[in-house]
Amino acid sequence: MSLFPQTFIDDLRLQANILQVVQEYVSLKRAGRTYKGLCPFHSERTPSFHVDPEKGFFHCFGCSEGGDVFKFLQLHEKVGFHDAVKMLAQKFGLALPEETGGAGDEDRRKDASLREALLKMHEVAAAYFREQLASPAGARARQQLAERGITPATIERLGLGYAPSGRDSLKGRLVKQGFAQGLIVQSGLVSERDNGEVVDRFRNRLMIPICRDTGSVIAFGGRSMDPTQVPKYLNSPETAIYSKGRTLYGVNLTKAAIRKLGYALLVEGYFDFAQVLQSDAFHAPGAPVIASCGTALTVQQAQLLRRFTTNVKLNFDPDTAGQSAASRSCELLVREGFEVKVVVLDKGEDPDTFLRKRGPEQYRNKLKQSRAYLDYLSEKAAAGLDFQKPDTQRKFLNEMLAVAAWLPEPAMRDQFADKVAQRARITAEVVQSEFRKIAAKRQTALAPAELPSLGEVKKAEKALIWWLIQRPEEARVMLDTLEEEDLQVLSARRIFELARTLHEEPAESLPSALIQRLSTGDAQLVTKIASEPAPPATSVDECVRAMRRLRCDQERAAIQREIDRLQELGATQHGHEIDNLWQRKKVLLHRIEGLT
Ligand SMILES: [Zn+2]
Repeated sequence: MSLFPQTFIDDLRLQANILQVVQEYVSLKRAGRTYKGLCPFHSERTPSFHVDPEKGFFHCFGCSEGGDVFKFLQLHEKVGFHDAVKMLAQKFGLALPEETGGAGDEDRRKDASLREALLKMHEVAAAYFREQLASPAGARARQQLAERGITPATIERLGLGYAPSGRDSLKGRLVKQGFAQGLIVQSGLVSERDNGEVVDRFRNRLMIPICRDTGSVIAFGGRSMDPTQVPKYLNSPETAIYSKGRTLYGVNLTKAAIRKLGYALLVEGYFDFAQVLQSDAFHAPGAPVIASCGTALTVQQAQLLRRFTTNVKLNFDPDTAGQSAASRSCELLVREGFEVKVVVLDKGEDPDTFLRKRGPEQYRNKLKQSRAYLDYLSEKAAAGLDFQKPDTQRKFLNEMLAVAAWLPEPAMRDQFADKVAQRARITAEVVQSEFRKIAAKRQTALAPAELPSLGEVKKAEKALIWWLIQRPEEARVMLDTLEEEDLQVLSARRIFELARTLHEEPAESLPSALIQRLSTGDAQLVTKIASEPAPPATSVDECVRAMRRLRCDQERAAIQREIDRLQELGATQHGHEIDNLWQRKKVLLHRIEGLT
């Protein structure tokens, strides 16, 4: 969260030359009006990373990263927006304004100082737990780690520790370090009992620090020491610095390896992670492993991962619970545009047990044999089926139709159809046409059938976005002719509404002002569209007309539904109303014609 006034950010944005900034990290070649180079955010051999210095943004067609000069620094230097602003101001010689202001700023500063205190407390806690593990109190925990085959080097790398059994062991340390009780409660490191008593949350547990991708400790996982101790894993609650759904365990240690090797190996548990990390299955730059810690991945985790790679090999425990988290994670990753492969170990094995029993060489072989997720799915469904029977074919095909329905790309669907056809010995055309039908049905389920084709609207929206960035002056005039209601039906509504609020902005700085204010996802969408060399529609007028037509079509459809309803109730009683509706429909049809 920035504590600087927006006017300062805007000034800086105008001063800071994105080309100059990016060129310090990436070698760029001129390609017409824009520049091209190898993307610094994913590994590639042919350049798909573009910089548009005039409009002030970058975009990578390979990994979809995109945004303005602040975003570039944030991603590249792994810093927050606030620090990116500071770095740029220094570089371009702008004096930083006082970080003061109204009540909003006051709140934000309070949040910032709370987060800072929580981070410090976690630092103290991590050091305390490490100390305890090395002390006589940690003897059993050390022994358990040794039995699990975790080496001292790994213990140190992961910062593992031990929380003693006392009720105020860590709390005592935090109080001694001068943290106020109110802050300690907000850290999640203690729990408040019903009688108001505050005690250590983690007692007699093996402690695993959970870090941000930058390495700061933000939470802990605590593993039980005895089988009778429940739960087996106790985790930090969500706090001002920790959100489970936005954190990927281990990425702070392995992000360089992930980038270098071009994929991430997703395992389930802390000990799977530790075994893979320390195994000899990977030489320099090390294992590209991360852990999901038992739950299905979230969109935010996928976004975090996308900063490092869009290829994932998934190696989950093939028991049923793990399996369903695994399939949800796979589906999410495929939808989010990742290439997903599945590593299959023998029944009952996870990476932890497999590596200990069978060693790194065999694990490496299993990784090599990993299969594309969709292949894996269809093979699993086909296992043991006798395709001589037509019933079996139908059953199998239905199961695969459910998969085809959520595949995001037509090309992907067609490829999948070929594989399914091959497996079930059905003609490819038959499967393809069924797959297309189900995909079309899904689209119509999302949008009422009477709407103009979704493709057309999407194209108009995309085109207007392109024009907004590349020809802001013309686009802005047209955008202003749209009514609030026209915007309501659009999927890129947020982008257009924001653009309309920027009327104070001179046309030439509208593109960068817009990109800077958009959410990461929206900014990526905008930079992707704007990086296309030609607009998706030949004139901005055409896009605006298509958008208006959409709204008219919707109104017309609503009127038609009302007419149908009244006619069913009895045309004679409702003749007058029906006539009125017909009149309105005629006017609309006329308008629609004029817009076509
Ligand atoms: Zn990229």
